[in-house]
Order: sequence, then C-alpha cells, then structure tokens
Amino acid sequence: MNYRHAYHAGNFADVVKHIILTRIVLYLQRKDQAFRVIDTHAGIGRYDLQGVEAGKTNEWQSGVGRLLDAKVDAKVADLIQPYLDIVRAENPDGEMRQYPGSPLIVRHLLRRQDRLSALELHPEDAELLSEIFEGDIQVRVTKLDGWLALGAHLPPKEKRGLILVDPPFEVAGEFDRIVEGLVRAHKRFSGGTFALWYPVKDRHEVRRFIAALHDTGIPKILRTELMIRGASAEPRLDGTGMIIVNPPFTLHDELRTVLPALSKILSAEQKAGFTLDWIRAEQDRT
Ligand code: SAM
Repeated sequence: MNYRHAYHAGNFADVVKHIILTRIVLYLQRKDQAFRVIDTHAGIGRYDLQGVEAGKTNEWQSGVGRLLDAKVDAKVADLIQPYLDIVRAENPDGEMRQYPGSPLIVRHLLRRQDRLSALELHPEDAELLSEIFEGDIQVRVTKLDGWLALGAHLPPKEKRGLILVDPPFEVAGEFDRIVEGLVRAHKRFSGGTFALWYPVKDRHEVRRFIAALHDTGIPKILRTELMIRGASAEPRLDGTGMIIVNPPFTLHDELRTVLPALSKILSAEQKAGFTLDWIRAEQDRT
C-alpha cells in the first residue's frame, strides 16, 4: 500500500469527485428520514496543503486553488457553493492550508439523524482518520478492507444512503474489482446510490470497464468523465471519471450545468472536455 493521497489532495479529480459527493448528499437531505454514507476507501480525512507531500506536486493549486479564484455564472455558483463552503470552513483565516477529504466533507453535511461509516485499510491513515472523529457518535471509522463493506455491511439499517468507492488504483485489476463489488453490493442494496471513482489514464481499460458495467444489467448507471487534456502518449491522469448508480434524479441536469464550467477552469490544455451519459437508463433492463 504505497499510495498516498496527500500528494494529490485537492487536485482536479478531487474537485470533481467532491462536488458530485456534495450534490448527492444534499439530495439525500431532502427527506427527514436518516441516511448513511459508507466511504469504503476513506483516506486520512484532512490534508495539509502546506506539507511536504502537497508541496512536491502542487496539484491542489490547479484544482481547488483555481476553482476558488474562478468567476462562474450564478447557476454554477449555486451548485458548487456547498462544496466551496466546506473548503472555506476548513480554512477559516482565508489562506488555503487544509483540504477536506471525502469523510470530512460528508461529516459537514450530516444532520443529527445521519451516519457515516468510513473504512481505511492503511494502519497509519486509519489512525489519523480515527483521531479526527474521536468521540463523534455519528461517525464510525474502521481499519478494514473497504471491499468487504460491499458485502456484509449492506444494506445499512437506515435503508437509504450512498456508498462511495474511491480506490487508489495502484494494483492491477481494480476496474474488475469495482464491477464485481458493485454487482455484489447491488444485490444486497439495490436502492442505494453508488458513486464509483476511476482514473482516465488507459482509455482501452476504461472502455472495457464501461462495457462490463453495461453487461451487469444493473439499471440507472450514469457516467461522467472530465478530461483536462487529450490522451497522453505515456500513461498519465488525463481525466477523472465517476460512475453513479441510482443517481438522484436531479444529478444529470446539475452536472450538465456544472461540467462545462469545471472543464474550462480545470483544463490543462485546449483538448479538455467532458462526457455525461447513461451507461444504462432506467428503462433498459436486461
Ligand atoms: N476517498 C478519499 C477522499 O476523497 O478524500 C481518498 C481516498 S484515496 C484515493 C484511497 C485510499 O484507499 C488511500 O487512503 C488508501 O490507503 C486506501 N486503501 C487502499 N486499499 C484499501 C482497501 N482495500 N480498503 C480500504 N482502504 C484502502
């Protein structure tokens, strides 16, 4: 387990992933009934942007850094405001020192009745995450293989919620593991919303992944990809992808509003762009 998210926290992929995360959780808040978020690969929760790791890449500066400085129209501003409010709340003196990871972002959005289960396998990372939420009865941090949560931990007792799957993609076979995990999880919790992150590095692998998702027969699978450049000759993170199964009915339109602006702000070159489409819509069940 060599992957360290501290090098990448707040980069373009985090920005897109975390905006989608806030939109889904805000939708869950529309009903009083409690929900649970399960974050299977949670990370350390809070990242030091002035630390050695972030300083080596400065990726956050072309991610959240650009977004904070960007001028966007009112519709886009409304949709990204909850995310930016959380980022700003973590940096109360106005200087960007910390970036909130997914469990901390979710924590900002929990009401009293809602819960977060955060899994992290790396022992030191799990320890750091536990420290953040020590004594917090709404959050349970477990040092455990996140893939296991897609079995025994489902369905959550609230019977409503979001499963975020954000693996590091440092070992081969991660795309297959996501598809296999989704099939297993969907059998146990077919009404849940699943948000599955993936890197757009190897286009051939991504095409295989999308075909495999289609072949699961699971309905209501939305795909979004945001590219910051055209395809690189050498494998490189050219884009960020997210699959959302059972998305809130509002999400497609929200992303159609937000993605053109994000693509402009976060792009590294002219060939940037985005994709937003249904891998399977509600009606085309197999
Ligand atoms: N979701 C986090 C966020 O958005 O702030 C970032 C997570 S980072 C991309 C992936 C994390 O998964 C790393 O912290 C890594 O230690 C952890 N990890 C790797 N393999 C895991 C596993 N099998 N189960 C749980 N966590 C794992």
